[in-house]
Amino acid sequence: MKSNTKRSILHLLYPNRCPVCGTVIESDGRFCGECEDKLTVYSDSFCISGAESFTAAYVYDEAIKPAIILMKDGTLGNSAFALGNALCDRLRSEGITERTDIIVPVPMYGKDLRERGYDQAVEICRIISENCGIPYVAAVEKYIDTMPQKELNFKERQVNLKGAFRVPEPDTVKGKRILLVDDICTTGSTLAEIVSVLLSSDAAEVHCACCCKTEKKEGII
Ligand SMILES: [Zn+2]
Repeated sequence: MKSNTKRSILHLLYPNRCPVCGTVIESDGRFCGECEDKLTVYSDSFCISGAESFTAAYVYDEAIKPAIILMKDGTLGNSAFALGNALCDRLRSEGITERTDIIVPVPMYGKDLRERGYDQAVEICRIISENCGIPYVAAVEKYIDTMPQKELNFKERQVNLKGAFRVPEPDTVKGKRILLVDDICTTGSTLAEIVSVLLSSDAAEVHCACCCKTEKKEGII
């Protein structure tokens, strides 16, 4: 069944809601008009070491925070659909989707994934993949547990992540142009570490994309 048909049927049983305020919206809607007006489209530029480009849909601020909480706490609702499609539009308009062979999610550590039951980066990859027809591959694995990044400064974050990721089957990325996707980017240290691992596994180039980018001094939930 086509995903938009499936959404229409589901909408009859469980009406689609704005992931910020909970108002019922159209089955293919992302946010209600009022909340959408309050969101800040990301327009800054940011560099991730080793990556060809960085794309984000929104600035992480109080207006978008409820949608991110919904996505992180497992409720999901319409949040992955709304944020994933917004990011997809942005990637398309910047010509990144034309330069992508596979989409790769930033991985979670196995124990964290089992506790949460799903991976929000994978959900976003699914949405982009469905929308753009580019396959997504869980090519990177996080095989060492690390301290939560939010408790660390930039330098500590880099050290904390060193050697935490690997590409179990390098042939999946060899010679490929990769779009590396996460929900939020704070300092970019996680993305930079994975970009370096992908390039060491002979990926041709890596583009990074996140639904939201924090402003320089902004903390994270
Ligand atoms: Zn709303």
